[in-house]
Amino acid sequence: MRLRAPCMRVATVRATMQSAEAQARSHCDLLGLDFMQLRTRLGVVIGEPATLSARERDLYGRPLWLLPAAVGAWQQMCEAARRDGVELLVVSGFRSMDYQAALWRRKLSAGQRLDAILAVSAPPGFSEHHSGRALDLHARAYRVLERDFERSPAFAWLHAHAARFQFRLSYPEGNASGYVYEPWHWYWYGAAGRTRARAS
Ligand SMILES: [Zn+2]
Repeated sequence: MRLRAPCMRVATVRATMQSAEAQARSHCDLLGLDFMQLRTRLGVVIGEPATLSARERDLYGRPLWLLPAAVGAWQQMCEAARRDGVELLVVSGFRSMDYQAALWRRKLSAGQRLDAILAVSAPPGFSEHHSGRALDLHARAYRVLERDFERSPAFAWLHAHAARFQFRLSYPEGNASGYVYEPWHWYWYGAAGRTRARAS
């Protein structure tokens, strides 16, 4: 997909044809996962928004798709950090259920065990990234999506200031979802977004 300035939008047509729950269930069935069991463990299914917006690119040069309302909050937070001399880089924003399913298929094909995958990755239908409200962040000179991000000035800044922009750390140590500690994963709960999601 080519990114046009200043803003390009895309509609996720499938979400309008099929409910998020049915979509998640069908992905889980195809992967051989017990949808109801996952739903009990992880809570509500997270649907994809009808509209997404991308105004910049991620660390890998891909368009950074986010819920349109989340873009402004993200850009304001990023700018505030920059004024404080802190650079916030993005590894990824929105991820579709299709993308998440492909990720899971690769892990299962490689012989990884279900519990091991569940500790680090939400099954399709349960990732906060489906909402277009979640961002995986990165700091230069630190490893990507690794725990040492918590030692970065970026993390310290987020810890002190993110709530001002209605972003929160979704998976602190010992979180109820059972996911490993993810200091890089931040969720925008503004504009009537849930203040707490149970699943990544
Ligand atoms: Zn994440």
